[in-house]
Amino acid sequence: AVVALVFAWLLVKLIQGQRRLHKASSIDLLTGVANRRELMRKGRKLLRQAKVKKTDFSVIMIDIDYFKRVNDQFGHSVGDVVLKKVVELGDEFMRKTDVFGRFGGEEFIAFLPNTSTEQAKMVAERFRVSVDEYSWKMSHESQEPFTISISIGVANSVDFSDEESSDLATLISKADSLLYQAKEQGRNKVCS
Ligand code: GH3
Ligand code: MG
Ligand code: MG
Repeated sequence: AVVALVFAWLLVKLIQGQRRLHKASSIDLLTGVANRRELMRKGRKLLRQAKVKKTDFSVIMIDIDYFKRVNDQFGHSVGDVVLKKVVELGDEFMRKTDVFGRFGGEEFIAFLPNTSTEQAKMVAERFRVSVDEYSWKMSHESQEPFTISISIGVANSVDFSDEESSDLATLISKADSLLYQAKEQGRNKVCS
């Protein structure tokens, strides 16, 4: 009985360790949301499910405007605080079934299952406005406030042929080119 108990305890410890390892390898350390690997893994799964159920699947791609200037002007650590706050603001608009993660640098992606282009545009627009209206001021009361904005591209699986829309990379690249369009049009915009 003692040997069995020891083995059971070891097994529990092993599983706990494995869980911790998985968590550590799937989360972006700075912002706490899914890292790129986890984002893509979950995105592929959601898209597969959307295909089976024949439901809408939206991709929102977000990029912070002139972020390099923030680092240059206020330093890298303030840049980090801005990244964290942008994620916190964005998280407010996500549903339980959505996946929001860091695609890299100052770029983020949200996958919205069961969501039409119009609905996704609304989510994106609310996110854009909340970043735009947030009072960006760092630590010291005396410090001048500064502005931060985001540009967003919104793509939806309905805009593609059945075969094309099964490929997550195709949807992401569409969202990316719409994001580029938002930048071209002066930034702080949502394009779909
Ligand atoms: P645009 O409006 O065209 O997107 O301009 P941008 O300056 O935002 O774009 P650019 O790609 O030139 O610069 C992105 C910057 O993001 C450069 C990089 O140093 C910064 N960055 C990426 N990851 C981090 C991070 O984890 N922390 C901080 N502080 N900065 C980061
Ligand atoms: Mg960028
Ligand atoms: Mg940028």
